[in-house]
Amino acid sequence: MFLRKIEINGFKSFANRTEILINSGVTGVVGPNGSGKSNIADAIRWVLGEQSSKNLRGIKMEDVIFNGTQNKAKKAFCEVALYFDNEDRRIPYDYSEIVIARKMYRSGESEYFLNGASVRLKDILDIIRDTGIGKEGYSIVGQGRIDEILASKPTARRKVFEEAAGIMKFRTRKEEAEHKLEKTDENLVRVEDILEELQ
Ligand code: ATP
Repeated sequence: MFLRKIEINGFKSFANRTEILINSGVTGVVGPNGSGKSNIADAIRWVLGEQSSKNLRGIKMEDVIFNGTQNKAKKAFCEVALYFDNEDRRIPYDYSEIVIARKMYRSGESEYFLNGASVRLKDILDIIRDTGIGKEGYSIVGQGRIDEILASKPTARRKVFEEAAGIMKFRTRKEEAEHKLEKTDENLVRVEDILEELQ
C-alpha cells in the first residue's frame, strides 16, 4: 500500500485543482517559504478526518477553504482526494485502488467518500485503522511530534507502537464491546425494575 496521488482543489493556497503524483522511493517537496509545502501535509491530515482547526494551523475549520487573493475570488468549497495503491490489500477493502476523499462547504458541512461512494468518517477510520495512515498514525510526523512522543507518558507512547504493530483495531473493538456490555447491563436493570413493578 502506498500513496500514489493527491488531488487538491480549493484547499488553503491550492485555489485550482492540483494533482501531486508520488512515485515510489523518496519524494521531496521543495519551495520558498510560504509557498504551500506544509499545506500538502495539512490536506492529507484533513482528509483523514482531522477535526481540529488548530492542528491544521487555522482558527476555524472554514480557514482551510481558499480565501481568495487580489486576483482570485475565494472558493465556496474545498476537496481533497488521496489515491492509495492497494495491490497488497494492506487496507482491508477488496480494491486495488482506494480513493479517500473529503469535501467541505463554507457552511461547515463536510462529506467523506470512499471510492466515490458517500460514507461516514467512521467507515474511513475503520478501514485505515492499523495501516499507520490515520491522522494519529505514525505516517504523518509533524514538526515537534518526535519530541512530543519522547516526552509523552509511557501509556501514550505505547499507542504509537500499538498502531505500528496492528493491534489498535482489537483495542477499539474491545472498547466497543465493553460499551455494548455496559448498555446491556443498564437495560437489564431497567427490565428488572419493570418486572418488579408488575409483580
Ligand atoms: P515554510 O517553508 O515557511 O514552512 P510552506 O511552504 O510550508 O512554508 P505553508 O505554510 O504550507 O508554506 O503555506 C502558507 C501559505 O498558505 C501562506 O501564504 C498562506 O497565505 C496560504 N494560505 C493558508 N490558508 C489559506 C487559505 N485559506 N486561502 C489562501 N491561502 C492560504
